[in-house]
Amino acid sequence: MNGEKRFAIIGAGMSGILCAIKLREAGHKHVTVYEKADRIGGTWRDNRYPGLTCDVPAHAYTYEFAPNPEWSAYLVGGDEIQAYFEKVVDDYGIRPLIRFNSEIEHMEWQGDHWDIETKDGHKDQAHVAIMATGVLHHPKMPDIKGLESFAGRAMHTAQWDVDVSLTGKRIGVIGNGSTGVQMVTKLGKDGHDIVHFQRSPQWMMPYPNFEYSEEDKAKFRASVEAIDAIRYDETYWANIRRFTTGITEIDGPEMQSIEDICRGWLEQAVTDPILREKLTPNYRAACKRLIYSYDYYGVAQQPNVETIVCGIREVVPEGVIDNEGVLHKLDVLALATGFHTDRFVRPISVKGAGGRDIEDAWAERCAAYMAISIPDFPNFFLFNGPSSPVGNFSLIDVAERQWGYIEQLLNRAASSNASGIVASKAAFDDYEDRRIAKAKATIFGSGCTSWYLDKTGVPITWPWDYDAFADAMAKPDFDAFDMV
Ligand code: NAP
Repeated sequence: MNGEKRFAIIGAGMSGILCAIKLREAGHKHVTVYEKADRIGGTWRDNRYPGLTCDVPAHAYTYEFAPNPEWSAYLVGGDEIQAYFEKVVDDYGIRPLIRFNSEIEHMEWQGDHWDIETKDGHKDQAHVAIMATGVLHHPKMPDIKGLESFAGRAMHTAQWDVDVSLTGKRIGVIGNGSTGVQMVTKLGKDGHDIVHFQRSPQWMMPYPNFEYSEEDKAKFRASVEAIDAIRYDETYWANIRRFTTGITEIDGPEMQSIEDICRGWLEQAVTDPILREKLTPNYRAACKRLIYSYDYYGVAQQPNVETIVCGIREVVPEGVIDNEGVLHKLDVLALATGFHTDRFVRPISVKGAGGRDIEDAWAERCAAYMAISIPDFPNFFLFNGPSSPVGNFSLIDVAERQWGYIEQLLNRAASSNASGIVASKAAFDDYEDRRIAKAKATIFGSGCTSWYLDKTGVPITWPWDYDAFADAMAKPDFDAFDMV
């Protein structure tokens, strides 16, 4: 396939939008974004549960090129973030590039391009495929006896029906990851009767929120430096480095400090010793994703919020029976039970060079060199792929750095007159050997269950610190790549 480069971006969420803007800015004319839904936004489109908030400061969870003086608070809700992405899409004129309601079903490398086919039979060809398909995307329904028999409304948090009235309803929430905790905090504050089923307690990092005044916003409008002062705030970045160093050096002072803060906060904020006992995890802080919350412990002590830690025996039409045989009558059941996080680009069927199937490449575990490129899959780049950094920091910042890396690969392939570029098998194997050894020694591998672990129990995340990620993304090692 000759002619000007054609790009297919799969997914119009945060990273797909970023990529489309960057490709257009670089002068590429043939850019198509395939989006299976009828709206942009990815995770922020799908998640609409009560209390949905981004626990990363809004000014840091913002594209570097599109600062937003209008953020209403230090941490903002999902609606506001969705509106931001909608505005960016229009401000940068990329909406016409997006093909909505177009779910890619199959992709196949043809030596110098990808053949692409949507579920409804539309066919396309692209020299470069950029997979911006997200990771927290496929809701995980809990395998609980009798769930389907529930007479009220049971909803996964990522499929929340905002039209269901919660007024006067008794609500059960299953799960206490970031989602369950945000939901209980909001609904509990709003005065609903809540029964919160927790299978494993969580460590909490206290993280107060505050609103920006009109005066603050005027300051942000007048000077981008005022915004940058928050985005690049020393304390915020010191916390990120404390966290990413802490997770990699688990017996060092950074992790000790995180543990001390979490334990101290639990002791200070939860006065009832029985509840405190219920809420005390038996694994180390940050082993599961740390929950950032200032208000949850207070809400958990309100009389309208009951915390159940003995486990669930079964769901019956009237509600949930716990493992001590107590029936908790409920009208609504929120399933804050997380996601199938091992899917990445799938269920798209992808066949690379020599017909290699992605299912085969990922049979043992999902992996990509530098989280971006997979041997035998040329010109196939992942945002937020396996081993991409995850944690308590901005995934927009991560995606921007990943774009910088991908852009350099594309430029290198273009200047070499190659049809494609792909991580070599040797570089991939070496990376995976080093990554797995290091990942097992991170805090995520220190003895808890979480969505960070792959099916073999190895953490699937970036196992080095933040600066190592920034350095790696800033300058690809081109010797690790083959031209095709
Ligand atoms: P999650 O962290 O995977 O938590 C799922 C929860 O459901 C856990 O408490 C889990 O218990 C429980 N659970 C799962 N199956 C269950 C079952 N059969 N019976 C009882 N309990 C069950 O999912 P999430 O809370 O949706 O969060 C996922 C990720 O989304 C977060 O880690 C974070 O990266 C992201 N997120 C970010 C924000 C933000 O503000 N930036 C907000 C929300 C989510 P166990 O722990 O015992 O397995």
